[in-house]
Amino acid sequence: MTKSLLTLNAGSSSLKFALFSAETLAEHGRGEIEHLGAQARLAFRPAQGPAIAHTLSAEEGGDHHAALKTALATIAKATPHLDVAAVGHRIVHGGMQFSKPALIDETVYAALAALEPLAPLHQPHNLAGVRAARALFPGAPQIACFDTAFHRGHDFAADAYGLPRAMYDEGLRRYGFHGLSYEYVSGRLREIAPEIAGGRVVIAHLGNGASMCGLRDGRSVASTMGFSTLDGLMMGTRPGQLDPGALLYLMSAKGYDAASLTDLLYHRCGLAGLSGVSNDWREVEASASPRAVDAVAYFVRRIRVELGGLAAALGGLDALVFTAGIGEHSANLRAAVCIGMEWLGIVLDAAANRANAQRISAPTSRAPVFVIPTDEEARIAELTREVVDASRRS
Ligand code: AMP
Repeated sequence: MTKSLLTLNAGSSSLKFALFSAETLAEHGRGEIEHLGAQARLAFRPAQGPAIAHTLSAEEGGDHHAALKTALATIAKATPHLDVAAVGHRIVHGGMQFSKPALIDETVYAALAALEPLAPLHQPHNLAGVRAARALFPGAPQIACFDTAFHRGHDFAADAYGLPRAMYDEGLRRYGFHGLSYEYVSGRLREIAPEIAGGRVVIAHLGNGASMCGLRDGRSVASTMGFSTLDGLMMGTRPGQLDPGALLYLMSAKGYDAASLTDLLYHRCGLAGLSGVSNDWREVEASASPRAVDAVAYFVRRIRVELGGLAAALGGLDALVFTAGIGEHSANLRAAVCIGMEWLGIVLDAAANRANAQRISAPTSRAPVFVIPTDEEARIAELTREVVDASRRS
């Protein structure tokens, strides 16, 4: 019987899942169910055998529980004698309390549920995944792996806002997200370029969600994301950095309330809102519409400004890493970010960049530039195994 680790990443309308050997962490397969509801789509890529993709009925993909059952049935077909030893969950918010992954017992579950107001668009869905997995695997430990935990070692000044101090103490502070991605990518950088990984590194996670992180010796010292997943860089549908005065204006002069502001800020801004074309970078980048061109220019500008800010926070720059969908694939975006950055020690190799090579900087570049694909699922599996092993020893 193959003992396996299942990883789950439950979003608002999707469920990503992957299966790994509990012993070797070799991957058995991964997939996702998107557009949960009446017409959900399943895609599954087993490590061996043909990929699967088809539309699901409401019974198969109507909600997280149904989707998880379908995911498992799909996995089971590709993995005879499936025995799930533990389930690792991506949990977006660990608040002030969680600086490392945690075994989810009743106390931890209640603490995670209490954080729902801090991440209303993510945390409730993450916890729906936990409930679904508990119901289907009552005997398997459930492990919470946090997007915030990697940033919990920041200095006060890196996490503070200029609000009354009591608010900071209550938890109104910068948390930073995408931590599982940063942990994975900084681990890969240590393998690829061990002489650099201990230095001052900026990782740009540029996907549908986007943020940047400054790391010293593999540890996060600053992040562009703050209290929520809205801050920092512009994203697919989120605005990034914004003057809170603009929100006061929308509320007092334009009749917005919390619900309509939430909808605006999470769903109607970013590349989609600014370009009017799409939230998808490929479509915006390919569009000749002047608004799409403006949206690209703004995205690039925000990344460049944050790169300078993070380099200042780090006291210099020893390497820049691009990751996630846009960072891994868009040579144009990477070139636009790096052009004229010689003052920061960055000189791109145009041919290597076009080829999506692992190292895309010229030999003369004082700070090398890398493209390193992220793998949050692999990091969740590693952390899950660590927690399960530690709980066995104690
Ligand atoms: P992620 O959230 O990491 O899956 O990234 C999604 C983003 O990556 C979307 O905006 C996509 O348009 C973008 N993306 C994915 N593949 C490519 C590609 N081959 N070239 C440019 N952008 C891409």
